[in-house]
Amino acid sequence: MLIIRIVNCTLQILLILVLNSAAILTPLETKMLLYSRAGYNITHITDEQKKPLLEKLNEETIRITQKAGTERPFCGTLLDNKKDGFYSCIVCGLPLFSSKHKFTSGTGWPSFFSPFAPEHITTKEDNEFDMRRVEILCTRCDAHLGHVFDDGPKPTGKRFCLNSASLHFYGDDEEIPLQSKPVQTETAYFAGGCFWGVEHWFQKGNGVINVESGYMQGATKDPTYKDVCSEKTGHAETVKVTFDPKVISYKTLLEAFFKMHNPTEVNRQGPDIGSQYRSGVWTISGEQQKIANEFIKELTASEAFSEPIATQVEPAKTFYLAEEGHQDYIENTGRSCHVTNPWAE
Ligand SMILES: [Zn+2]
Repeated sequence: MLIIRIVNCTLQILLILVLNSAAILTPLETKMLLYSRAGYNITHITDEQKKPLLEKLNEETIRITQKAGTERPFCGTLLDNKKDGFYSCIVCGLPLFSSKHKFTSGTGWPSFFSPFAPEHITTKEDNEFDMRRVEILCTRCDAHLGHVFDDGPKPTGKRFCLNSASLHFYGDDEEIPLQSKPVQTETAYFAGGCFWGVEHWFQKGNGVINVESGYMQGATKDPTYKDVCSEKTGHAETVKVTFDPKVISYKTLLEAFFKMHNPTEVNRQGPDIGSQYRSGVWTISGEQQKIANEFIKELTASEAFSEPIATQVEPAKTFYLAEEGHQDYIENTGRSCHVTNPWAE
């Protein structure tokens, strides 16, 4: 369930792969994208992209957001705002704070005890004026927002002290612009043997927001790892891939899946033997079912594998999340896995 991926040396290879396989990308989307756990695109915007956004702002807002300025206490327009909604970045629109976390600090600036989502803000040490303070910035556009202090209320004990000028408030009944909305996601399910490695490599795909390990296509409710290993429940170890279909297509995910494992093996995968390790694509729509079946036909016709493909394509049943210890297993343990990197040439 690792959300933020680090841009690494595979980036160039990834870009070539994505560019070749997905005509749905626009030029601005050809870099490695980052998403927050809350499902927002938090990819850092370039100075070029920022220019037209800054042109819409007044001088005072530019001074505060771009030059780390501070507005005078008790003067900000959002200090006494008690309406329900969220506070987005005045520059790029990313939601940064929620009315649920706002409190009256008496300091004269809007105060919150928690951000909207942890990855939406970044912090930086600020030693200006001989004071050791921690500055808060918007993760997506670097706009200066304010400072965070350790004298806030429970449960966090933090006080995020904001400039009203850095924020735009959207009430619950207001229409929200695209730049302030979460990404419209799609889900795909793949069973390719032990889920640890399959989860790990899907998570590296550009446009993949989140991957979780679990159990599917069995006959019992809420199975445990032990139940599934008994082979009595009929579940297959499966990964749930949440992705941004504007960036990566279902077909590209299928291509990666068939590179990652050996689809000709029946009820096993490498050293792991049992029906829980069978190869399967569990589809959530007729469209996914059609794309998966056509892709398997293509692979068969091109003789991509010397043995017949044994992958089952079935409508998805309930996905049961696996125990915490199975999530991000490769990432957390540092162990290697036998699954092939599907994104390498
Ligand atoms: Zn921003």
